[in-house]
Amino acid sequence: MKIGCPKEIKPQEFRVGMTPNAAQEAVARGHEVLIETNAGIGSGFDDESYVAAGARIIDTAEEVFATADMIVKVKEPQAVERKMLREGQLLFTYLHLAPDPDQTHDLLASGCTAIAYETVTAPGGGLPLLAPMSEVAGRLAPQVGSWTLQKANGGRGVLMGGVPGVGPAKVVVIGGGVVGTHAAKIAAGMGADVTILDRSLPRLRYLDDVFGGTFKNQYSTAGATAELIQDADMVIGAVLIPGAAAPKLVTREQLSTMKPGAVLVDVAIDQGGCFETSKATTHADPIYDVDGIMHYCVANMPGAVARTSTIALGNATMPFLLSLADKGWKKACQDDPHLLAGLNVHAGKLTYEAVGTALGIDV
Ligand code: NAD
Repeated sequence: MKIGCPKEIKPQEFRVGMTPNAAQEAVARGHEVLIETNAGIGSGFDDESYVAAGARIIDTAEEVFATADMIVKVKEPQAVERKMLREGQLLFTYLHLAPDPDQTHDLLASGCTAIAYETVTAPGGGLPLLAPMSEVAGRLAPQVGSWTLQKANGGRGVLMGGVPGVGPAKVVVIGGGVVGTHAAKIAAGMGADVTILDRSLPRLRYLDDVFGGTFKNQYSTAGATAELIQDADMVIGAVLIPGAAAPKLVTREQLSTMKPGAVLVDVAIDQGGCFETSKATTHADPIYDVDGIMHYCVANMPGAVARTSTIALGNATMPFLLSLADKGWKKACQDDPHLLAGLNVHAGKLTYEAVGTALGIDV
């Protein structure tokens, strides 16, 4: 199969759909890999590294789209890319169609077959192609939060691990899923005093079994949250209610109960945020102050560490990508119901129930 990987064109997107290692694996199985020139540069992979892996460098996106049987990307295709998709072509990338009628209609009109990373499932539950980005955002949260805590950035001027004779920062993580667990691990690793809150007792039991002693956990109620945030130097928002906007768990009024210069990192901002005062920010201007409390609310946190994110995403997508290339999408999806769960669009028809419901299109 001819596998094409164009350079991402969405603003501030530095990731790339295929790493040189993924290209090498595909080439070794007899596939042809076409990489647009400089596609990997934002993630630290130059054209030479792809050539060494056996890929061919292509000058333009137009040529990649015109030649490839399968297009592998990171972000949803932008309008100009959607015009280049054709009937029978396979698209494998993040799509997030439910809130995006324009993209959905363009994909349907193109006649392509589109498999969305975000709806591929895993045997034990969970979303294996979303998890790596939650892992990245979770691990990044205490890192950006600790930078924000520094005095010059508006924070309280507290060191995460303290020093001998001075206690550590107190960190509260609301939500103990993928983001929250990784955030708590890193914050605890920096020496902070960490408490994680979750609504799921099975999850709290798991966290207690695995991380008891590394960080504390508590059942998430409005009362427990109100009490913990008063003493916190950093609060990390990491809740998710699938398919719904994030619940607002800290109100503006409550900010006045917190220590001046404390930091809120709202990772759940891509679902509207779980603090009432959250509004999405960008890497160029990531933090702002409300009532003396510093907020960090970047909606695409993994972009800050594009190289790590690209490799992490590539590790997760590669087995699916190779299966699609080896067998063709039909047989690959027949053999693997979890990959089939990723099928959103085929030959002018929407094939994913939740997107159809959201957009009022028949499935
Ligand atoms: P997840 O499903 O693994 O975990 C969510 C957790 O929140 C679950 O354990 C759930 O029980 C818990 N929860 C739900 N309601 C709660 C409440 N009221 N109090 C406490 N806990 C509650 O999800 P995840 O992968 O960890 O993602 C968390 C959020 O981070 C999502 O909104 C996701 O989209 C977002 N995210 C953002 C970025 C970014 O760049 N900003 C990157 C990755 C993920």
